[in-house]
Amino acid sequence: MTPVAYRRAQSTGDAVRLAGMAGHRLLGGGTNLVDLMRKGVEQPATLVDVTGLPGGIEEAADGSIVIGAGARNGAIAAHPLIRSRYPMLSRAILAGASAQIRNMATAGGNLLQRTRCVYFADEAGSRCNKRAPGSGCDAIGGFTRYHAILGASPACIATHPSDMAVALAALDARVHVAGKDDARVVPLADFHRLPGERPDIETALEPGDVIVAIELPPSRLAARSDYRKVRDRASYAFALVSVAAGVVVEDGRIAEARIALGGVAHKPWRARLAEAALEGKVPSEAAFVAAAAAELATAEPQPGNGFKVALAQRTLAAVLSALCEDQA
Ligand SMILES: Cc1cc2nc3c(=O)[nH]c(=O)nc-3n(C[C@H](O)[C@H](O)[C@H](O)COP(=O)(O)OP(=O)(O)OC[C@H]3O[C@@H](n4cnc5c(N)ncnc54)[C@H](O)[C@@H]3O)c2cc1C
Repeated sequence: MTPVAYRRAQSTGDAVRLAGMAGHRLLGGGTNLVDLMRKGVEQPATLVDVTGLPGGIEEAADGSIVIGAGARNGAIAAHPLIRSRYPMLSRAILAGASAQIRNMATAGGNLLQRTRCVYFADEAGSRCNKRAPGSGCDAIGGFTRYHAILGASPACIATHPSDMAVALAALDARVHVAGKDDARVVPLADFHRLPGERPDIETALEPGDVIVAIELPPSRLAARSDYRKVRDRASYAFALVSVAAGVVVEDGRIAEARIALGGVAHKPWRARLAEAALEGKVPSEAAFVAAAAAELATAEPQPGNGFKVALAQRTLAAVLSALCEDQA
């Protein structure tokens, strides 16, 4: 048995101080970190519990909503402000895990959950550049049903597993971070990284940084938004492909669209090509299909996941169609 020390952060400053110490890792609900410790993938000497830090969900003076990093996923999904103003976020969270896990998992931990690539999790038997930089990637040429089709690299084809983060990407959310030298705000779109040659560096966080809150800016399209997840089982399964989308139709044309895809890349994939293809168009099946095709044009599937390209295109077109029909 490996002994692990436990400490509880008393304040954000305390969390930052402890997070910067060698061998210390922050502990949210523990639903991902503790699993990975059992598998030997994560080996912290000390866990720093941050669930006592602010976890409220509040409206700011400018109408944005600020979600404390300690907010439980279940509480976010059920909150009246989230359900009414940002339904895609509520649905994305409810599409993930189980009620018990959502009640433990925190907003901060959800953003930082690690990939579900089976080769990453197989500490004893598989090579993984994310786990052991420079060791190789056994996913390439392996079982790739859940792996990336966009933005992958020869070093890593893993996907980001979070449903919540896909909705946050479409909503232009901002992550508030406290570090040893400063406090800063990182757009969600820049928070997670593509793998490149360093898949072990997954986010814009520096060692010792603490996520303090997630901010949802006011959005006129968020109230008419949706999240659709396609998976191998009806529940308790990660996305093969997911779509978070919001659309505003004005005077018979698409005035604004915000779209992100899940299950397809190392980070929540903001679908800016599809958004650009839609803006100004009269809603039609042909326009939805063309926008989806534009986004997936650069897809580079693995031998085992070519089906995801068509699946992503069709799911996106179907979500757009339903959202526009509601505003006809
Ligand atoms: C069986 C099962 C099924 C699941 N299915 C889904 C699914 O379908 N969809 C989905 O999206 N998710 C799913 N999940 C994943 C689940 O959503 C995550 O495990 C959860 O969101 C992680 O949150 P946590 O608070 O428990 O994080 P923890 O496990 O406590 O921490 C995760 C990481 O975040 C870091 N961390 C935590 N808080 C902070 C902070 N404030 N600042 C900086 N770093 C921090 C930790 O150090 C750690 O590295 C599933 C999990 C399980 C076990």
